[in-house]
Amino acid sequence: MQKLSLGIVGAGVMGKMVGLFALSRGHRVTYFDNNPILFDGTQEKIIPCSLVAAGMLSPFCELEKADLIISKLGEDSLPLWEGISKDFDGSFYFDRKGGIVVSHPEDKNEVFNLLRKLKQHNLRHVCEEVSKIKLNSLEPDLSSSFMEALYFPNEGHVDPLSFQKAFVEKIIPQCDECHFNTEVLDIGPHKIETNKGHYSFDYVIDCRGLGANKDLGSLRGVRGEVIKVQAPGVKISRPVRLMHPRYQIYVVPRPKDCYLIGATSLESEDFSPVSVRSALELLSALYSLNSSFSEARILEMNVQCRPAFTSNNPKIIFSKGGGLIRVNGLYRHGYLISPKLAEVLLDRMIGNLESHSPFFECCSWEDL
Ligand SMILES: Cc1cc2nc3c(=O)[nH]c(=O)nc-3n(C[C@H](O)[C@H](O)[C@H](O)COP(=O)(O)OP(=O)(O)OC[C@H]3O[C@@H](n4cnc5c(N)ncnc54)[C@H](O)[C@@H]3O)c2cc1C
Repeated sequence: MQKLSLGIVGAGVMGKMVGLFALSRGHRVTYFDNNPILFDGTQEKIIPCSLVAAGMLSPFCELEKADLIISKLGEDSLPLWEGISKDFDGSFYFDRKGGIVVSHPEDKNEVFNLLRKLKQHNLRHVCEEVSKIKLNSLEPDLSSSFMEALYFPNEGHVDPLSFQKAFVEKIIPQCDECHFNTEVLDIGPHKIETNKGHYSFDYVIDCRGLGANKDLGSLRGVRGEVIKVQAPGVKISRPVRLMHPRYQIYVVPRPKDCYLIGATSLESEDFSPVSVRSALELLSALYSLNSSFSEARILEMNVQCRPAFTSNNPKIIFSKGGGLIRVNGLYRHGYLISPKLAEVLLDRMIGNLESHSPFFECCSWEDL
């Protein structure tokens, strides 16, 4: 197999996945990112999108709003995440206990809508309608006001922060070079220009997320807000989604009795702090899952903008003459779909992706 040198710009979840799979195929990898190698929130910079994310891996629940291609990419990514977790000796928090969807009785229609979408796509079998008793055995600490729920046994979640740490320990030492805290000023086929020098590669892979918006005119940012709390008094072990006509709020378990509550979705490229309205909505939803959350301690409130194209689906764009590949528009699905997207990109790079593959529709060609 042809071994290529890759310059990956952006070490968010997409860049990480491309590098990880490229190394396992014997390619050589150099990273460039304007953030520090380990972003732990103590830096003065704004926390990058991949670290603000909730890390839910829910290909079926997402069908409520997303296209089938997202669900397919996500479904194929789950076993890849399992493989990564195994290769990393379980050194980051990854769980595949499934996910729960609940609604308050007055919002039951939202759950029916999700069921209808699943039926439309012949995916009704991916979830179980569970009674109050079964719900209680799955998640005893959920409020007793929920009379029933949907249980998606095959979904999962990952903790982005612990994945980042594990990635730095396991993958970074295998790279040719890493240029963190380095602003990339320009990229083109085979070439990267930074404030420190010029570099050339067989392929440049642009994984800059919203940072690529000058080169990708149709890319926009969709604001999302999350709150992290610590609640030793409550034990919820799976992501729980609360369906609501105006918003969908989820609570995702994190290590050390922490929970991430997310996320708003606002059509705006606004990076200002979490609004009072959003905080009230997120925290009220949390409280309605279990009133003991009232004693939780708020650890963080974070904001980021998801990189999205008009369709809200991702694109892998290949330059006509070779030498540059852009992958972007992961929107609210970066963790869910990046493993499979990285495989698709690397297969296509060496001309191995069949044109009848369902994933071919993510690929496009551009004169660059
Ligand atoms: C609130 C919220 C909740 C979310 N929850 C989930 C979830 O539960 N599940 C899920 O699958 N997805 C979720 N997402 C979506 C996910 O975070 C994004 O899809 C993902 O981060 C996109 O990854 P990326 O690598 O393409 O871009 P990014 O994560 O933005 O990474 C791009 C990297 O490139 C670097 N960069 C940019 N420009 C330059 C430059 N000029 N020079 C050098 N470096 C540069 C940036 O610093 C960054 O490190 C959520 C997002 C938000 C905001």
